[in-house]
Amino acid sequence: MADIRVFVVLILSVICVCVESKYMIYDTAQGVVKGKLNVHLVPHSHDDVGWLKTVDQYYVGSSNTIQAACVQNILDSTIQALLADKNRKFIYVEQAFFQRWWREQSVATQAKVKRLVSSGQLEMINGGWCMHDEAAPHYIDMIDQTTYGHKFIKEQFNVTPRVGWQIDPFGHSAVQAYLLGAEVGFDSLFFGRIDYQDRAKRKEDKNLEVIWRASKSLGSSSQIFAGAFPENYEPPPGGFYFEVNDESPVVQDDINLFDYNVKERVNDFVDAALSQANITRTNHVMWTMGTDFKYQYAESWFRNMDKFIHHVNKDGRVNALYSTPSIYTDAKHAETDTWSLKKDDYFPYASDINTYWTGYFTSRPALKGYVRMLSGYYLAARQLEVMKGRKKTGPATEYLGDALGIAQHHDAVSGTSQQHVANDYAKRLAIGYKEAEKVVAESIACMISPKPGCASSATNIQQCPLLNISNCPPTEADLSSGKKLIVVVYNSLGWKRSDVIRLPVASENLAVYDSSEKEVESQILPIINESISIRNYYTIAYTGKSPKSTPKYWLAFTADVPALGYSTYIISSTKKPASTYVKEEFYTRPRNGKDDIKIGTGNLKLIYSGSEGKLSQYVNSRSSIEASLKQSYSYYAGFDGSGQASGAYIFRPDGDHPIVSQKQNLTVLRGTIYDEVHQKINNWIYQITRVYKNKEHAEVEFTVGPIPTEDGVGKEITTKITTTIRSNKTFYSDSNGRDFIKRVRNYRADWDLEVNEPIAGNYYPINLGMYIKDEKSELSVLVDRSVGGSSIVDGQLELMLHRRLLYDDGKGVAEALDEQVCVGAECRGLAVQGKYYIRMDPLGEGAKWRRSYGQEIYSPLLLAFTEQDGNKGTNFQVSKISGMDFNYSLPDNVALLTLQDLEDGKILLRLAHLYETGEDKDLSVITNVELKKLFAKRKITKVSEMSLSANQGRAEMEKKRLVWKVEGSKNDETTSQRGGPVDPQKLVVELAPMEIRTFIVTVGN
Ligand SMILES: [Zn+2]
Repeated sequence: MADIRVFVVLILSVICVCVESKYMIYDTAQGVVKGKLNVHLVPHSHDDVGWLKTVDQYYVGSSNTIQAACVQNILDSTIQALLADKNRKFIYVEQAFFQRWWREQSVATQAKVKRLVSSGQLEMINGGWCMHDEAAPHYIDMIDQTTYGHKFIKEQFNVTPRVGWQIDPFGHSAVQAYLLGAEVGFDSLFFGRIDYQDRAKRKEDKNLEVIWRASKSLGSSSQIFAGAFPENYEPPPGGFYFEVNDESPVVQDDINLFDYNVKERVNDFVDAALSQANITRTNHVMWTMGTDFKYQYAESWFRNMDKFIHHVNKDGRVNALYSTPSIYTDAKHAETDTWSLKKDDYFPYASDINTYWTGYFTSRPALKGYVRMLSGYYLAARQLEVMKGRKKTGPATEYLGDALGIAQHHDAVSGTSQQHVANDYAKRLAIGYKEAEKVVAESIACMISPKPGCASSATNIQQCPLLNISNCPPTEADLSSGKKLIVVVYNSLGWKRSDVIRLPVASENLAVYDSSEKEVESQILPIINESISIRNYYTIAYTGKSPKSTPKYWLAFTADVPALGYSTYIISSTKKPASTYVKEEFYTRPRNGKDDIKIGTGNLKLIYSGSEGKLSQYVNSRSSIEASLKQSYSYYAGFDGSGQASGAYIFRPDGDHPIVSQKQNLTVLRGTIYDEVHQKINNWIYQITRVYKNKEHAEVEFTVGPIPTEDGVGKEITTKITTTIRSNKTFYSDSNGRDFIKRVRNYRADWDLEVNEPIAGNYYPINLGMYIKDEKSELSVLVDRSVGGSSIVDGQLELMLHRRLLYDDGKGVAEALDEQVCVGAECRGLAVQGKYYIRMDPLGEGAKWRRSYGQEIYSPLLLAFTEQDGNKGTNFQVSKISGMDFNYSLPDNVALLTLQDLEDGKILLRLAHLYETGEDKDLSVITNVELKKLFAKRKITKVSEMSLSANQGRAEMEKKRLVWKVEGSKNDETTSQRGGPVDPQKLVVELAPMEIRTFIVTVGN
C-alpha cells in the first residue's frame, strides 16, 4: 500500500510541474558583440538547378524516390518561418527556382516577401539564375546568367546582391573572383571546395579567408574578400542538422523533459565555435546552417537555432546571432586585421589523395559543345533582335537565355548530372534555340527585305542547327530547275572577317556569286562515308525522322562579312562543275624514296611523313617557323570500382595507352581554298585536318566514339600535340576563356604539393585554349568547347576529348558516365565530333591569334538560307549591310560581348578589352570605341555606365566598395589601368587591358 501512495504522489507532482510549461519567448535579437567570439548562423538551402532530378522535379518535389527534395516546400515553409519571427534570417541564391515560386504567389504574399527582403530578413545573394560551375562555363555565359538573375531581383525587390556564394562548385576560377565577384560589385565571395592539402595549410595559417586578387591586369582594383569554409557548406561537426529526419539532438529546453539537454547542447555549440575560431582570423566565425535542399520544414531549423541563440547567449561564453554573409562580411571588415593575398585560382580541386575533380572538365563533351554553340548563337540572336526591334509578344531570345542560364549550373554544363537530367538540359536548350531561331529569322527577313517594314516572310528563312552532322535541308535542295539558294551570312563580331563556309550539297555543278553577282571562288569536296553514317544515325536520334536525301559533297567558299552585319551569297546550278575540283591523292605505306607530303597552299604547310602516315612538321613561310610537330591519340584507362574510380567528376587514370593507327593511311584532298588530310585512326576515331590558304593554323576535326568498353575498361580519350619546345614544366591555360594563368607541373604556388596523381593532378579546365613556349617559339591550341587539358611532358599539350566510364565515382551522382544514343531499341555509345586548332608562332606573337581567332571560334558566322525562284526577279535585297557605320570597325583588341534590347529604347552594351597587360606588344594598350559609330543608325540620348551585371550604376558601386588591409601588399601591388569616364558629347569609351565595361544606352530613332 505504502508503495502505491508514493506512486500517486509522484504522478501528482509530475502533473503539477507540467502545468508550469508555458510559451517561451526566445531572445534572438542579438547582433554582433564586440570583444566576444561571434558565431554567425547563416540559414541557407543549397538548391541545385538540376542534378539527380530535373529542375522541374526539384521544384515541385516529384520523383522523391530519387531524392526527397522539393524547392516549393523550402520556399513556402521558409517564408512562413521568417514571417513568424522578425529576428530570423535566410539567404536565397538560385533565381531559376525563386522567380518561379514568386510568380505563383498572391499579391499579398508578394508584398510580405518584399518586406522580408527590404528588412534584410530574406537576403538574395549570388543571385544568378543558378550557382554556375566555374570550370566549364565561358565567361560570357557566366555574365549572362548572372545578369539574368540580377535583373529579376532588381525589378522585383530593387536590391543588388552583395555577396558571391559559390559554395558547391568543384574548384574556383580567377574569373569568378575578379569578374563575377568584384566587377559585379560583390563585397565578398564564399565557397566550400578547395584542395585538401591547401585547406589543411590554410587552417594552420588562419588563411582560409584571404584577399583574392585574381586579375593580373586589374590588380587591387578588382580584388575581393574571399572565404573558403573550414570543411564544406554544411553545419559544423557536433550535431547541428535540424531537418525533420536528421539525427542531430534537438535542443530540449523544457525542464520537464526527461531528455532536457540545454547544458550539453550549449557546450557542443561553444566547443564547435571555439574550434572554428582556432583556424579563423578575427572574432567572427560563420556557420553555414543548411545543406542540399534543406528547410523543407523550415520551422524545425529555426526552432533549434532560436533556442541555441537564446541559451548560448545566456551562457555567455560566445555570442550567437542570426546572420547573413553580408553581415558577416561587414563584421570582418570592421576589424583591424590584415589578410593574406591570394592570386590565380583554386584549380584543380582534390578532396583526397586519389580524388582529383578534373574529369568533369571533359564529362559530357557533346552537351558542353551544345552549350558553347548556343552561347555564341544567343549573343548573335540578341544583336539581331536589337536591329529588328524587340517585340512585346511573340518569339523572344529570353527562352534561350533561361535555358542557357540553367545550363551553366554546376551539375549541368559540368557534366555531373544524371543522364535523364542531362537530357532535360539539352531539351530546354533545344526549345530555347527554336524560339531564338524565330527571332533570327524575323530579323534577317527584315534586313533582306527590299521594302521598308519587313515585307519578306520569316517563314522562308531557314537555318541549319544540325550542320555539324552534315545535315542542312535547304542547301541539299535540287537547284537544277533554275532555283537559286540565297545564303545570308551574319557576323556578330565587331570586326569584318573572312571565313570559309562549308555546306552539304547534292550536286557538284554549282557556282557561288556574291551580292554584286560576281562569281566567287568555290571548292567541292566529297562527304565521306563516316560523316554520312553519323548524319544518318544522329538525324534519326535527334529528329525522329530519317533524312530525306543524302548530300554528296561539301561546297566551300570564302565569305567576306562586314562587322556586325551580313553579306549575301547566291548559289545556283551550272552545267559543269564551275568550282575548282578536288584532286584526291592517297598515300599508303610502304613507300620508297621521297617521303614527305606537303599540305597547304598558303603560308602554312603541314608536312606529313608518308611512310609513317603521320604529321611531322609545321612550316610557316611568313613567320619563318619550321618546327617539328606531331599529333597522336591515347586513352587513359579509367580506374575501376576498387577504390576511387574514374567517373563523372573524378579523373583517376590507370595507365596511359597510345592509340596506334591501324593502317596508317592518309587521304589528302587538295583544293584552292583549303587542303584536307583524312586519317582513320581506328574504327572509332576519325580525323580531318584542314589547312586553309588564308589561315595560318591547322584545324583538326575529330570524331571520337562510340568508345568501346566491351573489354570492361572505361576510357578517357586524349589527343597529344608534341613539339620540341623546351617548356620547362610550364604551360598556360585560360580561366573561363578570359585570362591566361601560368601552370607549373606538379607545383602549386600556395603550398608544397604532395604529388599523388601526376596526371589528374595536373589537369586544368580549358575553355579558350592553352599554350607552351620557350625562348624562341610558342605552341597554342584553341578549343571549340570546354575540355580538360594539360602538359604532362615538356613540349607537349594534351586535351581530353571524350570519356566513357563504367563505374560511379562515389560523389553522389550514382551513375557511371556511360553516354549512349538510341534509335529505337538500338543504343550506341555517344560519338562526339568537335574541333581544335593548332598554331605555332615566334615567341610573343601567339596572343594575337589566340585572342582574335578565339573570338571567331566563340562567334562563328551565323548562316541562314532562303530560296529564290530564278524567273521571278529579286525578292530580297542582295547586299552587305553593317549594323554599325559601314566604315567603322571595333579595334582589334575589343570584343562586343553584349548588345541586347531592354525595354523602352534601352540597349544593354558590354565591351571587353581582349588582352591582358603585357600580353601583346601592340594590343595590350588602352583603346577606344566610338559609340556614335557603333550606333550609327540611331541617336544616342543617354549613356549610363553600369556594374558588370547591369543592376547598379558603376560609380555607385565603386563608392560602396570595401577597402581591405592586405599583408605585405606594397610589394605585390601592380599598377592597374582603367578607362576614363565617358564624355556625354564625344561618347568615346576607353578600355584598358582586360577591362569589361557595361552600359545602358538609351537611343532614339
Ligand atoms: Zn550543388
